Amino acid sequence: MDDLVDGLSEVSCDVLVIGGGTAGPMAALKAKIKNPKATVILLEKANVKRSGAISMGMDGLNNAVVPGHATPEQYTKEITIANDGIVDQKPVYKYAQRCYSIIEELDSFGIRFLKNENGDFAVKKVHHIGTYVLPMPNGETVKKALYRQLRRARLLISNRYMATRLLTGRDGQVAGAIAVNTRTAEFLVVKAKAVILCMGAAGRLGLPTSGYMFGTYENAANSGDGYAMAYHAGAALANLECFQINPLIKDYNGPACAYVAGPYGAYTANNTGSRFIECDYWSGQMMLEFYNELQSGKGPVFLKLNHLHENTVTEIEKTLHNVERPTRGLFHEGRGTNYRQEMIEMHISEIGLCSGHSASGVFVDEFARTTVPGLYAAGDMASVPHNYMLGAFTNGSIAGEDAAEYAGNTDFAEFDTGEIEKEKARVLAPTKRNDGIPPNQIEYKARRLVNDYLQPPKVTRKFEIGQRRLAEVRDDMQNQMVARNSHELMRALETSSIIDCADMAAHASLYRTESRWGLYHMRTDYPERNNDDWFCHTLLRKKNGRMTSEKRDVQPYVVPIADDEKDLYDKQRIRATA
Ligand SMILES: Cc1cc2nc3c(=O)[nH]c(=O)nc-3n(C[C@H](O)[C@H](O)[C@H](O)COP(=O)(O)OP(=O)(O)OC[C@H]3O[C@@H](n4cnc5c(N)ncnc54)[C@H](O)[C@@H]3O)c2cc1C
Repeated sequence: MDDLVDGLSEVSCDVLVIGGGTAGPMAALKAKIKNPKATVILLEKANVKRSGAISMGMDGLNNAVVPGHATPEQYTKEITIANDGIVDQKPVYKYAQRCYSIIEELDSFGIRFLKNENGDFAVKKVHHIGTYVLPMPNGETVKKALYRQLRRARLLISNRYMATRLLTGRDGQVAGAIAVNTRTAEFLVVKAKAVILCMGAAGRLGLPTSGYMFGTYENAANSGDGYAMAYHAGAALANLECFQINPLIKDYNGPACAYVAGPYGAYTANNTGSRFIECDYWSGQMMLEFYNELQSGKGPVFLKLNHLHENTVTEIEKTLHNVERPTRGLFHEGRGTNYRQEMIEMHISEIGLCSGHSASGVFVDEFARTTVPGLYAAGDMASVPHNYMLGAFTNGSIAGEDAAEYAGNTDFAEFDTGEIEKEKARVLAPTKRNDGIPPNQIEYKARRLVNDYLQPPKVTRKFEIGQRRLAEVRDDMQNQMVARNSHELMRALETSSIIDCADMAAHASLYRTESRWGLYHMRTDYPERNNDDWFCHTLLRKKNGRMTSEKRDVQPYVVPIADDEKDLYDKQRIRATA
C-alpha cells in the first residue's frame, strides 16, 4: 500500500477547475477557449480519462431541449412544476436556451445521438408533460470523446489530487485550493484567481440496502467533498432538505432504467403487473407513489418488460447491458433473471444530495457564480435542479466562460498562509496516531446512522437523535481515526466530507417545517405542504463557525405558470377507471 511522503508544492493559475468528471472538463475547455492565454488547471481525485458519473458512458441525454420537440419555455415550465415551484428560473431557462448548441458541439466531438429516417434527432417522451430524452447509440464513448478534446487543447491536468479545502482572501473572495496526492499524501497548494467546483453529487451519504459501501447509485468517488469545501469557505447551499432518492434495480443499485426501456413500452409495475404511476420521470412525487405502493401491500415494485416482443427486449439490452453500468447483463445472468420471462424487482435507493436528479446543491446564479466572489459551481453539486449530464456540460461551459472573464479582470487574492499549516494539521491528524479506528469503520457507522435516522419519511425526534449520534461519530473521527497509508488517508478525508454532508442534510431538513417534493422531504410531523410559510428556497451556510439556515424568496418567474398547471406533477397516480 502507498506510503506517506512528506512534501508540499505550490502552483498558480488563472482558473482552477476541481473535478474532471462531466462538468469539469467542459468548464476547463471553455475557460481555455475563452482566454487562450489563461492558465487553466483541471484537478481530479482519480484520472480524468475514466472518472465521474459518465466514466462508462451514458445511454442518453435526459433533458435535451431540441427545436421542433420542445422550447426553452416549455422545459423551464416543466422543471418548475416538477420542483413544486421552488425554482430559480433564470439558470434553468439559460440552460434550456444554451443546451442545443452544446448537443451540436458534442456531436462534433463524435458522440452520436439517435436520429430518425429523416436525419432529425429522435427525441423520446419520458417526462410528465414534454419530450426531452435523446438516446445516444454510441453513448459508451462519451468520456473518451471528451478526453480527446482536453488533450487537443493541451489543458493542464493534475490527476490523483484530492482537493480538501478552498483558500479565501481577506475580503472573502476565493484565493485557490489545497489538495493532497491520493498516492503519496503530498500537498499541493494551487493559487487561483477563479475556482470552479465540479465535484459531483454527495453520493456516499446513505448506505445502499445491499450493504456495499461503494455500491452506491452515484459514482462512489463523489463523497460530497465539493459540498463540504463550499460550506467551509462560507458559500451558501440551497435546498439541502430536498434529498435525492431514486428507483433502482434491487441489489444491483443501478437505474432501472425506465428512460431507456420506457419509450419501447416498458414500465414500472406493482406485484400484480399493473402500472400505478402515470410517468416514470424521476421526481419526488413519483418516488412518493413508489413508496406508497411498497407500503400498500402491492409491493415490491418491478420493471416490467416481459410483455414486449423478443426483438424489442434484445434492442433494449443492447443499451442497458453495454452503457453506463455494463455489468448489468452479468448481474442478471448471475441471478438467473431475464427480462423476457419475469418482472425485475426494484427498490428505493439510499439518500444523497444531488441537483442533477433533485435540487440540492451549492447555490449558483445563471452565470454559475456562488455567493463567494470568484467561486463557481457546476454539475450535480450546483443548485440548478434536474440538470443531469447535459446540464453538467452546459452549466460547466457557462462557468468556464464566466470564470475566464472574471480571472482576466482580477488579481490573486492575498490569503493567510497560516491556513495552509492549519489544513495540513487537520489532514494529517489521522496519520499521527499509532492505533485507532480505521476510516472505513467510521464511515460505515456514519452512513448507517444516516439510513436509520435521516432516510424519509422524516421524523423530528429521529433527526434530533441522529444529529446527536453523528456528533459522537464526528468526535471519534477527530480523536481516534487512524490512517496508515495514503489510500486510507483519502478515505479518512472522504469520511469527513460525508459527516459534514450528513450534518447539513439534517440541519436543512429540520429547518423546513412542512412536507414538500414528495418523498424527498416528507416530514411525518409536518405532513402538509405549507405555501404560506415555505414557498421559498432555504440557504444553509457557515456563519461565525456555526451552521445556519435562512429563507430565500423564489425570484419572479421568467416563464409564468398557470394556476391549473402548478400541481400537474402531483397527479402521478393512475386513477382507477370503472
Ligand atoms: C448511474 C447513473 C446513470 C445516469 N444516467 C444518466 C443518463 O442516462 N442521462 C443523463 O442525462 N444523465 C444521467 N446521469 C446523471 C449524469 O451522469 C450526471 O448528472 C453528470 O454526469 C454529473 O456530472 P458532474 O460533473 O457533476 O459529476 P461527475 O461526472 O461525477 O464528476 C465529478 C468528479 O469530481 C471528482 N472529485 C470528487 N471529489 C473530488 C475532490 N475532492 N478532488 C478532486 N476531484 C474530485 C470525481 O472523481 C469525479 O471525476 C446518471 C448518473 C448516474 C450516477
